[in-house]
Amino acid sequence: MKVYISVDIEGVAGVTAWPETNKGQDDYAQAARLMTAEALAAVQGVTDAGAREVYVKDAHDTARNMDPAAFPREVQLVRGWTRDPLQMIGGIDDSFDAVLFVGYHAAAGNVGNPLAHTMTSERARGARLNGRPLSEFYLHALAAEAIYGVPSVFVSGDAALCEEASGQVAGIVTVPVKHALGAATVSIAPELARERIRAGVADGLQRVLDDRASCHPAIPESFELCITRCEHASARQLSYYPGAELLDDGYTVRFVTGDAFEMVRAMLFIGS
Ligand SMILES: [Zn+2]
Repeated sequence: MKVYISVDIEGVAGVTAWPETNKGQDDYAQAARLMTAEALAAVQGVTDAGAREVYVKDAHDTARNMDPAAFPREVQLVRGWTRDPLQMIGGIDDSFDAVLFVGYHAAAGNVGNPLAHTMTSERARGARLNGRPLSEFYLHALAAEAIYGVPSVFVSGDAALCEEASGQVAGIVTVPVKHALGAATVSIAPELARERIRAGVADGLQRVLDDRASCHPAIPESFELCITRCEHASARQLSYYPGAELLDDGYTVRFVTGDAFEMVRAMLFIGS
């Protein structure tokens, strides 16, 4: 079995505030260590399930957060950005049996995480797909499915994202590790988070064998993407993306397509 694990930081247990997620700022080193530890727990779950080939994607900010030397020899680490529409699952293809998401977080516009955002918190403050906040999880689960037919079997992160993911992929195993209380987070102990991630990953991979169909997200017939930019001049410029239009608020760029790949491609330009 060949498995892809995408790892973000804002949904990791014990991570709460922006300075913790930014290289060079307060407490970043601690958050990066917690991120690496959750990724390693997921890798252990993959090994428990008998998979031998594992790709791990560092998928936060610089994409150079986790310590490469921490990973065991069966892991191939995707570090840095591939600069293509796959973004947080860069390098995945149809040779993979499953994709898993660790440290993921609520979408921009969702109150379930003080660090909620979608792809960028600096340039866009809202991302909606068919009228609902679009999470990085759902974007990449759709991309993996629509482009390569790869099922999504596991997600860990904040409770709001986990609840949403269960509605989008019926068979997915979720491990909530924290919830928001205003600008605070209430996290389970990192050690317990790692135990649950390891066990949940193994369960998720078992579902690929037992009930693979339940791990494929349904692909909508059409995609209406609305990205609200932080700056109106940026929205104006991006409204010239082929097929896009600027809405009356002056900040929101709308793009409608029936093709999942075109939606994913538009996110690389309008939504990032
Ligand atoms: Zn993120």
